[in-house]
Amino acid sequence: MPRREQYTGCLLGLAIGDALGFPVEGMSLERIRRTFGPAGVQDFVNVGQRGLSHGCVSDDTQMTMAVARALLEAGRKPIDELMAAMCREFVAWYQSPEIRGPGMTTLAACANLARGVPWNVSGIRESKGCGAAMRVAPVGLYYYRDPEQLRHVAEASALATHAHPTGVAAAVANAVAVARALEKASPKRILEELISIAARLSGELEAALKKVKECEGMEPSEAFARFGETGSAEEVFASALFCFLRTPADYRATVLAGANSNGDSDSIAAQAGALSGAYNGAAALPETWRRGVENAAELERLASELFTHAPGGY
Ligand SMILES: [Mg+2]
Repeated sequence: MPRREQYTGCLLGLAIGDALGFPVEGMSLERIRRTFGPAGVQDFVNVGQRGLSHGCVSDDTQMTMAVARALLEAGRKPIDELMAAMCREFVAWYQSPEIRGPGMTTLAACANLARGVPWNVSGIRESKGCGAAMRVAPVGLYYYRDPEQLRHVAEASALATHAHPTGVAAAVANAVAVARALEKASPKRILEELISIAARLSGELEAALKKVKECEGMEPSEAFARFGETGSAEEVFASALFCFLRTPADYRATVLAGANSNGDSDSIAAQAGALSGAYNGAAALPETWRRGVENAAELERLASELFTHAPGGY
């Protein structure tokens, strides 16, 4: 049975991964190594934007918190009410001066939502960015005991912004992965299950997850190049899953592998960090990072509430 500490580990683990990757998002691995030394980035560093310092998080964490708040408000209500609450959170984030590093698809979809477009048609059909998968971890935590509702809400939460089948499939797979990590299912079994889920949802995601299997034992940079590094949902999720499967018991190694990449460093490290944190629990996260990451207290509170109020109870 999962522990509260795994819930806090998941959300803090996600935020720490985000904070490690945010300063190097968009940098090539070569440039990361030139800037931070041969091992690449190894700790929180400044983002290089005014007012942002060590441990600052980006949209990945901000939107994850929005999803968590919506679940706590309306997670037991009918899907339209839950999605209304979630979309209110998305629009509040979109209109906030604190918005950080948002993706184009999410911005366009939030503009639709702000104009009153319903959640099931507000998403951008053409985009298969990772913006829906990056924020879905709370769905895996909250509906851990209800696999059907877990998939249903993961799909709806994705559709509001990312309506491409691959973007939706990556969100569903990521939520399932978080739930399985809570159960401490063997990482290889998690991958097998995700491949069979992906086979029913998206050929692109299925192909990407099969590559994760083929790349076992490879250096991260080599594996990332095989998955692709353009930031699309299946590439980012495959990269994150690879990092987790490579070092399942080592949170630090998992997130640093994700941050030191050519691709979407913050989203890869955030998704890998959520899985590793859910699997290993908060105590496995380095204490200085747990204390130093932005919004640590609020993330801990939200995770703890998700644990307490998860349908099915403990
Ligand atoms: Mg980001």
